[in-house]
Amino acid sequence: MVRPKKHLGQHFLRDENIARKTADIVDRTELKNWLEIGPGTGVLTQFLLTKDIDLEVAEIDTESVVYLKKHYPDLVIHEGDFLEMDTSNWPDELGVIGNFPYNISSQIVFKILEHTDRIPVFAGMFQLEVAQRLAANPGNKTYGILSVLTQAFYDVKVEFKIAPGAFFPPPKVQSAVITAIRHNRPLNADRTLFFDVVKTAFQQRRKMLSNALQKFNLDSGHPELKHFLKLRAENLGVEDFAKLTDWIRKNTG
Ligand code: SAH
Repeated sequence: MVRPKKHLGQHFLRDENIARKTADIVDRTELKNWLEIGPGTGVLTQFLLTKDIDLEVAEIDTESVVYLKKHYPDLVIHEGDFLEMDTSNWPDELGVIGNFPYNISSQIVFKILEHTDRIPVFAGMFQLEVAQRLAANPGNKTYGILSVLTQAFYDVKVEFKIAPGAFFPPPKVQSAVITAIRHNRPLNADRTLFFDVVKTAFQQRRKMLSNALQKFNLDSGHPELKHFLKLRAENLGVEDFAKLTDWIRKNTG
């Protein structure tokens, strides 16, 4: 037994059917290489290991690593913080899967988004609110930075919800499994500036963009901009943000 540690966001799956269903997501793709984040005691890992894939895992908890080495001696384990993981040796195409530690779930997604060129798919468990945020459309109350940046590269689907009782210890929140499949629709905007514009716009999500985007010194009277700047960040979809970003690149110095 591994004692669950709160500071590592450890909620171990008790419900093997959910673990199996989550692992089955890999059957929907042709991807060979997969990385599981946070295998813990291997509840999900055991089902992933039945698949015709090359699986490696990243786990920060020493006690879990000892457990995994004992029970799965052939498993390749990267011991340490996924957020600090060296990505230079990653294969050209890598699927990411896991029952993600909820305390760092946004940071995990941001790290994945740094490597969209090599991650065609990511899937797994998030707290429901984060899952809904990843999939949210403009105007939705959970729509935010994570929604726009993720959907700029991936089609996100909330697959199924999970009650707290499926885990030990039960988390305080509902959970959900999502799939994010890279869509390969081009962004049509400078990526770095796009990230900057989206993050800046949502820092003051209740304000009109003319206020929220002040740091870009936009000409709010410009005919192409007027329409955007009266809106709020939460009203703009990915393509709107891309258009706005491209306008900023062309018109500001
Ligand atoms: N997959 C297991 C455990 C999920 S709990 C199950 O479903 O039962 C989340 C797991 O993520 C824990 O094993 C925890 O130790 C691990 N973890 C937490 N922070 C991490 C980090 N920064 N990098 C890698 N793993 C992490």
